[in-house]
Amino acid sequence: MSFVLGLKCRECGRLYPKEVINVCEYCFGSIEVDYDYDAIQRTLSRAAFASRPKSLWRYRELLPIEGEPTAGLSSGFTPFFRAERLADTLGVSELYIKDDSVSHPTLSFKDRVVSVALTRAKELGFDTVACASTGNLANAVSSHAARAGLKCYVFIPADLEIGKVVASLIYRPTVVAVEGTYDDVNRLCAELSAKYPWAFVNVNIRPYYAEGSKTYGFEIAEQLGWRAPAHIVIPAASGSLITKIAKAFKELHRIGLLAEPQAKLYAAQAAGCGPIAAAIRERSDIVKPVKPNTIAKSLAIGNPADGYYATKAVLESGGWAEAVSDDEIVEGMKLLAETEGVFTETAGGVTLAAAKKLIEQGVIPRDESIVLCITGNGLKTQEPLVNRLGQAVRIKPSIASFESSLAGQLAGATTKR
Ligand SMILES: *Cc1c(COP(=O)(O)O)cnc(C)c1O
Ligand SMILES: [Zn+2]
Repeated sequence: MSFVLGLKCRECGRLYPKEVINVCEYCFGSIEVDYDYDAIQRTLSRAAFASRPKSLWRYRELLPIEGEPTAGLSSGFTPFFRAERLADTLGVSELYIKDDSVSHPTLSFKDRVVSVALTRAKELGFDTVACASTGNLANAVSSHAARAGLKCYVFIPADLEIGKVVASLIYRPTVVAVEGTYDDVNRLCAELSAKYPWAFVNVNIRPYYAEGSKTYGFEIAEQLGWRAPAHIVIPAASGSLITKIAKAFKELHRIGLLAEPQAKLYAAQAAGCGPIAAAIRERSDIVKPVKPNTIAKSLAIGNPADGYYATKAVLESGGWAEAVSDDEIVEGMKLLAETEGVFTETAGGVTLAAAKKLIEQGVIPRDESIVLCITGNGLKTQEPLVNRLGQAVRIKPSIASFESSLAGQLAGATTKR
């Protein structure tokens, strides 16, 4: 049972069958999936969700597959919680975290897009999957391909964090480290996709892949009690997650599950790679490519594929953007850990640091609901923290050594009598 009508050009509206196409043959516009929303509305109600599995497939009617899901059956429906201690520190009243740092199985929101992409790739008859990645996507494609028994090639820039490389290699894909930036990797994959009959999840089957990101937005709305927050701060690389969170709220509104979809969206980027943030702050729809130089490698896309649409989605929502320095990113990672017990990667540091600046500037008001999108796990990006966290206190295994080493700290401590 599928509610997909077909594929549709985002620019000229031309319709295409549900096959492998990612740019319009007439106007070169980008392609997106179109659904029969009236039929979905007749089928779906809030009550239906109570009995559904706690995975991203609970929103199956709004995902672009034909049959039953065959990948990522336990992905999605990650924790969403009120962040009281962080709210106090930032001086805001209603703050939430959507936490994909613990996404199953590869600890980033890329499990969502890959669950959808691989299910669809199998339906389309592919036996080999591939991707151009800044790290997390390679991890997710490698893992999900292993479980699905698909052949797998992942392409990454050669300078990635060791945690991201190991977290792909463990699944035994072919990992190709390209001497260049992500933008070089992406261009190479576009060329390779014309030559090899493989499903490059974020290139030739991108329209299906990108739909998986909507589930992050669906879950925020459902977990908030079927409402949209007033403000959402979202990290941006290609800009796809931003556009799909906007689409998710619009769709829930369209099918009658959400009353007020008017959340303001904010793009968070690193100062060392902020082409989308720059366009938004200039209120321009021209996203000028940059050469990335930042510790937030998962967001280091200098020429973002969905930059134009992300910029439009943010400006239409009445939101804004902020770019943050590498030091601010590290401080953001530390602050989230110290206040909420969540160890996020550099991208999460970008989100928190950008949110902090937007609140301090008065752009995000202190008394309205705010959601922070935490999209990846800190165990994968330990390099920037190594000399920034202090050291473990090393002692001999005796009380005497413990007390002499920690004399200062224990000075006021009570002991049992
Ligand atoms: C890929 C990625 C993003 C951004 O994704 P886009 O949809 O390309 O903008 C954000 N956070 C993390 C951790 C990522 O890996
Ligand atoms: Zn077109």
